[in-house]
Amino acid sequence: MHNKTLTELKAGLAAGDFSSRELTEHFLARIQQHDGELNSFISVTAEQALAQADAADTALAAGNGGLLTGLPIAHKDIFCTEGVRTSCGSKMLDSFIAPYTATVVEKMAAEGAVMLGKTNMDEFAMGSSNETSYYGPVKNPWDLERVPGGSSGGAAACLGARLAPGATGTDTGGSIRQPAALNNITGLKPTYGRVSRWGMIAFASSLDQAGPMAQSAEDCALMLQAMAGHDQRDSTSLDEKVDDYLGALNNDISGLTIGIPEEFFPDTLDGAIADNSRAAIRELEKLGAKVVSVSLPSIKLSVPAYYVIAPAEASSNLSRFDGVRFGHRCDDPKDLEDLYKRSRSEGFGDEVKRRILVGAYALSAGYYDAYYRRAQQVRRLIRDDFARAFEKVDVLMGPTAPETAFKLGAKKDDPVSMYMADVFTIGVNLAGLPALSMPTGFINGLPTGTQVIGNYFREGQILNVAHKYQQATDWHKQAPAFGGDQ
Ligand code: GLN
Repeated sequence: MHNKTLTELKAGLAAGDFSSRELTEHFLARIQQHDGELNSFISVTAEQALAQADAADTALAAGNGGLLTGLPIAHKDIFCTEGVRTSCGSKMLDSFIAPYTATVVEKMAAEGAVMLGKTNMDEFAMGSSNETSYYGPVKNPWDLERVPGGSSGGAAACLGARLAPGATGTDTGGSIRQPAALNNITGLKPTYGRVSRWGMIAFASSLDQAGPMAQSAEDCALMLQAMAGHDQRDSTSLDEKVDDYLGALNNDISGLTIGIPEEFFPDTLDGAIADNSRAAIRELEKLGAKVVSVSLPSIKLSVPAYYVIAPAEASSNLSRFDGVRFGHRCDDPKDLEDLYKRSRSEGFGDEVKRRILVGAYALSAGYYDAYYRRAQQVRRLIRDDFARAFEKVDVLMGPTAPETAFKLGAKKDDPVSMYMADVFTIGVNLAGLPALSMPTGFINGLPTGTQVIGNYFREGQILNVAHKYQQATDWHKQAPAFGGDQ
């Protein structure tokens, strides 16, 4: 049952092959049996899940099912969930019980989704390895000595290990796509503004975007259909019609033009990573796509620009955690200053502190022009590069990550090498574009992914390309040996 996709499980529920309660109990049992080793969940909400499953079974029996009725979903612990701890991977919010539910979670619940629990993540979504979590690192189910990627590492690992059939993630600089690649699953970061950020704990507000993660593009389309839409409570959510993502999956892709940015295949890139992505592109050529070479000359500046803009926004967003209104408060403060200082010193981990310091520095009066303003100018150049490319092509493709899953601890003390894990994903966030990562083969038993980037609001087209590829190949169907014993 656990190797089935959401789409297959939905059909099974409709046919009465099993109930949502049976399905939910099956995944809860798998989590209980295997997550001790994987650490992909921070909270498991079994009781609530079973109540939702029973309600789903009643709705299905009455013929009142929605898009996701009865399907178990894991939510990243960055989404507020009323009455359930929402930690954001931080000691700061270890005891925070959200008083309301994020729009994404609410919309999926309204379509009948069953929440299994909240997944582990890098603290405040800062990281590429899930090692900055207060709750300890997540292990990669393909090799337990390796990282699952981050920051949505718990989401990707629980999907890879088949402890859940669908999960939500968030992507500020690659946090849906990079862990998707490292765990052999499919993940989509939508256009900025496509999915509401209301109730999603903010890291860098001009970059953060929630999206679906699952075994296939078809499943991501199903989830996005439920997640997307305008939300009056989020002023950055865009009032654009939601496309029929499921309906677009089988569109003919002959005549589609794929652009290959030369910057995504630098001479320094691991040859096996390049080969797997080139093979995926060739597969799409066989289906009738045309391939052209393009250039994104400013993309090389995306990592440095991001590491000014994202920390700057984070330093502002995280100022609300002051020991007074939210989260951790130190014991016996001497005075207000002591309260702020010790609450924040105790509540935040090293990487979060590093980002707050870098951000506050970049925004300070003497350095604003030198760093923040320049980074914003570079961001505009990157956006313009993409716009020029999309005058000639429909989608852009290249590797999602420059390497396969690395060993736990390998980059922990070298932040810059960690930051380079997102060298191919960050430009997309700076430009606000949609992009998907799909499984495209293995290197020494470890998964690799390829990215499909589309123009604004072309989620339907990206999902269509990935679905066609997944109809012709079976990389996305490979599951690790871990947890495959039930
Ligand atoms: N790894 C990047 C960072 O550390 C991106 C994280 C994300 O997308 N949330 O900021």
